[in-house]
Amino acid sequence: MADRFQAPKGTFDVLPPGAAARERIERTARQLFEHAGYFRIETPAFEDTELFARGVGESTDIVQKEMFTFEDMGGRSLTLRPEGTAPICRGYVEHGMHKRSQPVKLWYWGPFFRHEAPQAGRYRQFTQVGAEVLGTDEPSADAELIVLLSQLLEGCREVSVRISSLGNPRTRSAYRDELRDWLGAREGELSEPVRARLDLNPLRAFDSDDPGTQAVMAEAPKLIDRLDDEDAEHFAAVRSLLDDAGLAYEVDPGLVRGLDYYTRTVFEFESGVLGAQAALGGGGRYDGLVELLGGSPTPGVGWAAGIERILLAQPEPVEGPPRGVFVAVAKPERREEAFGVANDLRAAGVAAELEHTTRSLKGQLKQADRLGVRHTVILGEAFELKDMETG
Ligand code: AMP
Repeated sequence: MADRFQAPKGTFDVLPPGAAARERIERTARQLFEHAGYFRIETPAFEDTELFARGVGESTDIVQKEMFTFEDMGGRSLTLRPEGTAPICRGYVEHGMHKRSQPVKLWYWGPFFRHEAPQAGRYRQFTQVGAEVLGTDEPSADAELIVLLSQLLEGCREVSVRISSLGNPRTRSAYRDELRDWLGAREGELSEPVRARLDLNPLRAFDSDDPGTQAVMAEAPKLIDRLDDEDAEHFAAVRSLLDDAGLAYEVDPGLVRGLDYYTRTVFEFESGVLGAQAALGGGGRYDGLVELLGGSPTPGVGWAAGIERILLAQPEPVEGPPRGVFVAVAKPERREEAFGVANDLRAAGVAAELEHTTRSLKGQLKQADRLGVRHTVILGEAFELKDMETG
């Protein structure tokens, strides 16, 4: 026998009936977004490597070690998209979307790629749904997006929300220096990876799961206490809108998120049933990103959520009621007619399946049971209709 193949490490097949649950989430997302005036956008699965290097940030885990990067035959460096925000901002600039009426509200759904060590809830190809609002810095856009994500996650178990504000690049840079100095004096108590990145990105020390580092970080000065007046007001306005919407959240000054481009609001949704990979989705405001990618200064805010994690956090789906018709043949000479009956039923708007093998009538009725149809039509001497529930 020839060697068999396996799906590449960190990838998976969606086998029937697994797609149904994914489609349910997509339907819910579409409905939520359409009701809130968001339009669907699709961008390529790969982009210029430089877009992510610049747009996600050189110091991030994603850019440093998680990108699937390759050269095309023309010698261009391309990267399978690890996230959706930089590509959408690229599209906003490329297509002059600043000329449309603002804000531009977009949503997307599709595959993303990160070269991470696979484990439950962490894959190398995964699916994200996400939304971006470009062209306004009003706190209502931040709050609208957070409320939409909480609505999308309504079916998930043990969901909690953390929010914070990262202020603006000026305050963040001053704070980064302050934190670097503060941590530098306690270097001995920090884990090796945190020490190694102290210069590049001391804020990431808040993400560490090393107990010694965590103990230090609990005492560390917090960016949220260094916000300037405008940023603090913006954050208060977002919180007040979330309060009005009845959304419970925790303000977490240690929430930094992995990407460099965030400004002001950041947020993350988690599920208590997910274990180590607890994040269901998250995002924040990125007021400098469009300009960084060559556009005119344009504020933006958005989030992304992982479909595979949402599925893990949802309770087992309950089966729907039986529906549709199975067309069985008791006499082989009526097979052709059965084909026509199934077509007619479908044309009339009734879901219909046809016997495609040469099973006995008993075997066909068993198959109809397995398919969970409501009725079976039997073409024999006569034309019989069997109610599968009552017999
Ligand atoms: P991030 O941009 O890293 O915050 O990702 C947004 C969401 O995508 C996360 O909250 C996860 O639900 C999901 N996600 C990110 N990376 C992966 C991965 N490697 N495998 C599965 N889901 C992921």
